[in-house]
Amino acid sequence: MKPIGILGGTFNPVHYGHLRIAEELGDALDLDEVRLMPANMPPLRTVPTVSGAERLHMVRLAIAGNARLVADDREVSKTSLCYTVDTLAELRAEFGPRRPICLMLGADAFARLHRWHRWRDLFGLAHFAVAERGGHASIATAPLDPALTAELRARRVTEVGGLSEQPAGAIYLAPTSVLQISATRIRGLVAHGASARYLLPQPVLDYILERGIYRQAEDQ
Ligand code: ATP
Repeated sequence: MKPIGILGGTFNPVHYGHLRIAEELGDALDLDEVRLMPANMPPLRTVPTVSGAERLHMVRLAIAGNARLVADDREVSKTSLCYTVDTLAELRAEFGPRRPICLMLGADAFARLHRWHRWRDLFGLAHFAVAERGGHASIATAPLDPALTAELRARRVTEVGGLSEQPAGAIYLAPTSVLQISATRIRGLVAHGASARYLLPQPVLDYILERGIYRQAEDQ
């Protein structure tokens, strides 16, 4: 059974780095659907002052015309704190016990996984597909938290087929062309009136500039 892909993040704003990993992992894992899911009140970060509705709208603008990419509003539409483990449990209930669910992450985010709420329970709910920078050192050899290293060693699959055979529990490291783009940099450029063009889809940038998002220091 083909896995369904989930890419979570604050998407504050969504940019080509996110869209490339969704696209490249979508191809590498042969996915029919990749859900981009903006987070609401992410537990490990300061609460974004830009509204969840605006971040979701920017995701919708960014993925228009790409049938495989879907915006998922389940986290931004909640008013309470959202943990990935709860969201995945909800998705698992929706898709049933057999459909593989694949959580996509950048290698930087995976390296901090041991700090997530009930992080070990995540392996019972989903696979992990980690976007690594092709041609650079792999997190397989990086000095990670020892408990995370142990999980990575035990769960790593080197063939994508391993993600279709079971519904959850595997970790796949995928070489991708990680672009040097971050939402932080885009917010900084906009705040300084500098050009953020070509770092994110133009309709998203037009929306940011029209609404005056990221112009104020408190939006950073
Ligand atoms: P910020 O600069 O505000 O921290 P960000 O650009 O890192 O934001 P997030 O929304 O925090 O974006 O990222 C969501 C997911 O996308 C994470 O798994 C992160 O590792 C991944 N990601 C972010 N930027 C890139 C990029 N340029 N290339 C590949 N993956 C990325």
